[in-house]
Amino acid sequence: MSMRLFIGGMRGSRPCVGAAFEEFGGDTTSLLVLGSGGERLVLDAGTGMHAVAGQLAEMGPGEVTILFSHYHLDHMIGLTMNPLFYRPDWAFSFVGPDLADGSVREAVTRLLESPYWPVSWEQMAAQFEFTELAPGEIQLGALRVRACPVPHPGGCRAFRVDDTADGSSLVFATDMEWQKRADAHEKGFLALCRVPRPADLLIIDAHFGRADEDAFADWGHTCWEDGLAIAASTGIERVLLGHHAPEADDEVLRARERQMKQHMPGAALARAGQWLEINS
Ligand SMILES: [Zn+2]
Ligand SMILES: [Zn+2]
Repeated sequence: MSMRLFIGGMRGSRPCVGAAFEEFGGDTTSLLVLGSGGERLVLDAGTGMHAVAGQLAEMGPGEVTILFSHYHLDHMIGLTMNPLFYRPDWAFSFVGPDLADGSVREAVTRLLESPYWPVSWEQMAAQFEFTELAPGEIQLGALRVRACPVPHPGGCRAFRVDDTADGSSLVFATDMEWQKRADAHEKGFLALCRVPRPADLLIIDAHFGRADEDAFADWGHTCWEDGLAIAASTGIERVLLGHHAPEADDEVLRARERQMKQHMPGAALARAGQWLEINS
């Protein structure tokens, strides 16, 4: 079995419901990476975490690492009402960057307490651990994870996950405003995409299209045209675009996907509920 990816949700900014959001889904960002050795790594904990928890529950109790790119609410709100947090046979390791406005422990603690939530993580039955994402690499079984800072208000990290057992790799870059990059961001992110070799899959912020970009400068997001250009310049052939704007319903996203595929056949928009194989 090779590394696999489950998309719990990739809606940006706030969840959406209704018949117009069924194909691409309305839940905010949360993905599950399942390593070839069974490693369980969750990327962000938006409302899509509920679907991720459903997949994890089917696999049975165990250890799960939840890695945060940053602590904006659309990437955290799935921490509330997670049924697995109430069960003593599950262990969760929260890992995230120490940003200017808070650490991973502070961010999770602030959300899971009064007046925002009635049950704190300390009162839940699962085991919890908090780890600051330090520079360098982290190793989770055969999964090697590297991070780099990307431009976004308040700070954010992009991640590369290499499965050293099967050789497959992915890059996850949600919430990044590529047009606001400094030289260090550009150098760091391009290296994440291409070193040691071009990633098999790039998952990238495509909240906007080029036409919207001027109106939304400093909102912290990238247009899909830039996402495809980054992939092309780093030798990545398969791209999954996400952080869909809440205003973009299925019809808008289907039209956008058709347009994208004319530029890059290996590009697709993320659909909640999908499982993808990450083959090397
Ligand atoms: Zn976001
Ligand atoms: Zn954000």
